[in-house]
Amino acid sequence: MQVAADLQKGLDVYAIREQFPILKREVKGKPLVYFDNAATSQKPQVVIDALVNYYTNYNANIHRGIHTLAEEATAAFEATRDTVQKFIGAASREEIIFTRGTTEGINLVAYTWGRQNLQAGDEVIISGMEHHSNIVPWQIICEEKNAVLKVIPVDDNGELILEEFEKLLTEKTKIVSVVHVSNALGTVNPVKQIIDAAHAKGAVVLIDGAQSSVHLDINVQEMDCDFFAFSAHKLYGPTGVGALYGKKQILEAMPVFQGGGEMIKEVTFAKTTYNDLPYKYEAGTPNIADVVAFKAALDFMTETGMKKMRDYEHELLAYATEQLEQIEGLKIIGKAREKTSLISFVIDKVHPQDVGILLDNRGIAVRTGHHCAQTLMERFCIPGTIRASFAIYNTKEEIDALVEGLKKAIKLLV
Ligand code: PLP
Repeated sequence: MQVAADLQKGLDVYAIREQFPILKREVKGKPLVYFDNAATSQKPQVVIDALVNYYTNYNANIHRGIHTLAEEATAAFEATRDTVQKFIGAASREEIIFTRGTTEGINLVAYTWGRQNLQAGDEVIISGMEHHSNIVPWQIICEEKNAVLKVIPVDDNGELILEEFEKLLTEKTKIVSVVHVSNALGTVNPVKQIIDAAHAKGAVVLIDGAQSSVHLDINVQEMDCDFFAFSAHKLYGPTGVGALYGKKQILEAMPVFQGGGEMIKEVTFAKTTYNDLPYKYEAGTPNIADVVAFKAALDFMTETGMKKMRDYEHELLAYATEQLEQIEGLKIIGKAREKTSLISFVIDKVHPQDVGILLDNRGIAVRTGHHCAQTLMERFCIPGTIRASFAIYNTKEEIDALVEGLKKAIKLLV
């Protein structure tokens, strides 16, 4: 595929593509065009190598062993914690807890902080563009505590209505948990404004960073969020691992999440004392190999350059938006002023799934459906969308292939 046109703004897309072995494969006899990056991104060779290297050379359980392999595995595991700390600008490594991903991070906060701090009549605020993983844990804990779940409404452009948010905030608001970047629309939410307003009312704030961590510069101290949850697999890292950031003071005051090995200091049948941060929240043998490879993914991003990646992704977004808008009957859902490289759209008289199947026949992978955001789909009175989400290895030629595929699909289906 001709990618020379994408050697722009210092980002050598051709060289980047070479680092992702999966991009060499074909699907249905056509070169793979992968536009499902918001679901999970593809992995560069350095991440695959880190996994293989761990299992080939120093697989061992961490923290407890005194032998060489255990020491090497522990050092690699803990090095990822330092890298995550730097990547998101946390004040200390104790504030970084490894999880299975964003979902587990949010559940951890709901089950520990929520259980401890919510009482009958208290209020939890989420937004109308949350992924199910930032709705259901709060519904569960609100039901248990007889607390009230309130929702910030979304306008026709797919932006949060902040004046309504200000009205929802009361002295009873205990936590505000909102998504930084919508996985269904690409909207970038003004989280700093939300955090400041919530803090003024004495509420804590959790930011769902599943989509923002790959596209935006994250600095949790500047943002001043109390919790930030994200998943490695959205930023070129392995599946099944992520991190939860929490302010030290808050994490220290919270009760434990899961009980077991590693999270304890001393166990007797009469009483157990718990470990210090961050281990207090890391019960059992963690996903060591994937945590180790998570570092390789973050290093890959840092070395490639966050700004270069962001500029290039914006270029792809602008190009794709312009091209897609020219297709008759196609309507983009979500036209926020600030967006990441993701376009959700519907096409008149055509079911998204049928389009998805026809595109797959051309080797093009897009997401169709509700994107785990059923309440947002309801807001726009649609069952789902077709979503094309772009990563740094995508090219304008691939977007042209998508446009061509969509035109053919419309001809066949309408
Ligand atoms: N929040 C958002 C905005 C997401 O896009 C996702 C995944 O798609 C999640 C949460 C859940 O992430 P995970 O499945 O990695 O836990």
